[in-house]
Amino acid sequence: MPTIEFISGLKKPIGDVYCIGRNYAAHAKELNNPVPKEPMVFLKPASSIVSDSNNIVLPKQSSDVHHEVEVCIILGETTKRNMTVAEAENAIDGYAVGIDVTARDIQQKAKEKGHPWSVAKGFATFAPISQFVNTGEDLHHADLSLELKINGEVHQQGNTRDMIFSIPYLISHLSGIFNLQAGDIVFTGTPEGVGPIKNGDSLEATLGDGLIRLNVKAVRE
Ligand code: ZN
Repeated sequence: MPTIEFISGLKKPIGDVYCIGRNYAAHAKELNNPVPKEPMVFLKPASSIVSDSNNIVLPKQSSDVHHEVEVCIILGETTKRNMTVAEAENAIDGYAVGIDVTARDIQQKAKEKGHPWSVAKGFATFAPISQFVNTGEDLHHADLSLELKINGEVHQQGNTRDMIFSIPYLISHLSGIFNLQAGDIVFTGTPEGVGPIKNGDSLEATLGDGLIRLNVKAVRE
């Protein structure tokens, strides 16, 4: 079973990986999507997770792979069905920064045909995630800055205060659908500035003004 690591050194098994689409209005607009009235949910296979200092493999099936930098949360032991927003806030065990790697060309075709996004979002290595930092330290879910640099140049910058649906609201919503478990991870949506990743690119994602860092390299399959 794959595991994730906390900055403290603690390792935990990974559960399911839930993702939210279009949770920042400016990003919904840049891809010509309407601003949603309720959270838009999809999943990635847990086996697509890669840890810090590893590679994103650009698959042969796509010629337009995009980066989406996102705040990731991991759920703790108090998770249950139908959580209130307050219960959901208490269920957050830690924060990390991740990249929701997306084969945009495959996703576009799926959208046109009304097909699911599992392939576009689920290739091996399409979910790089940093180490997690426990909640209750310096970070608050409603004021987390995130940034993505490619080869040293800033491509995405955002803050969770600009989310359409707050992180506790998202978890509460998910708990009304799924049987959430400790170790489940949620990708909470990307701010604007998504764009292509090329062979050889070095990506650095940061959360909380550099408190957490993720460094990965893109390599062609
Ligand atoms: Zn995303």
